[in-house]
Formats: sequence, C-alpha cells, structure tokens
Amino acid sequence: MRRTFAVTDACAGCGACIKTCPEKAIRPASRDHSSPLIVLEDRCSACAECAEVCPVSACVEVLLEEE
Ligand code: SF4
Ligand code: SF4
Repeated sequence: MRRTFAVTDACAGCGACIKTCPEKAIRPASRDHSSPLIVLEDRCSACAECAEVCPVSACVEVLLEEE
C-alpha cells in the first residue's frame, strides 16, 4: 500500500493547502469531479502538511493499492 492524500467534497475552497503543498501536488479539479481540488498522486509525498493547514479537515490520507 502507498500513502497519498486526497481532497474531499468538504473542501471550502480557501486555497491554503495549494499554497502549503511543497510538491505543488494540489490542483483545481475539473467541474465534474466531486471535490474542487485534486491531489496529483505521483507528486504527493504524503507529508500531511495540507491536512495540517486545512480548516475543515478536507485533506485526508488515502491508501493506494500498489500496481
Ligand atoms: S500530503 Fe504533502 S505533498 Fe501530498 S498533497 Fe498534501 S501537502 Fe502536498
Ligand atoms: S485547505 Fe482545505 S478547505 Fe482549503 S482549499 Fe484546501 S482542502 Fe479546501
């Protein structure tokens, strides 16, 4: 399993996680996506800094199956 992070639909759109992410892994999502932001899994280092700054706990850890 590999750890990464994702933004849930609880996101309030404050932009704090985008500014904080050291890997620049958080980007606006396309309109049909359930949350306003996506995390680029190949960039995310699972540092959890986005989760620390998010005021509504919308940045959450997820576990990916290894290929
Ligand atoms: S865990 Fe770290 S690298 Fe991954 S999206 Fe959050 S701030 Fe960026
Ligand atoms: S810090 Fe939280 S509320 Fe703000 S944009 Fe990121 S996920 Fe959304």
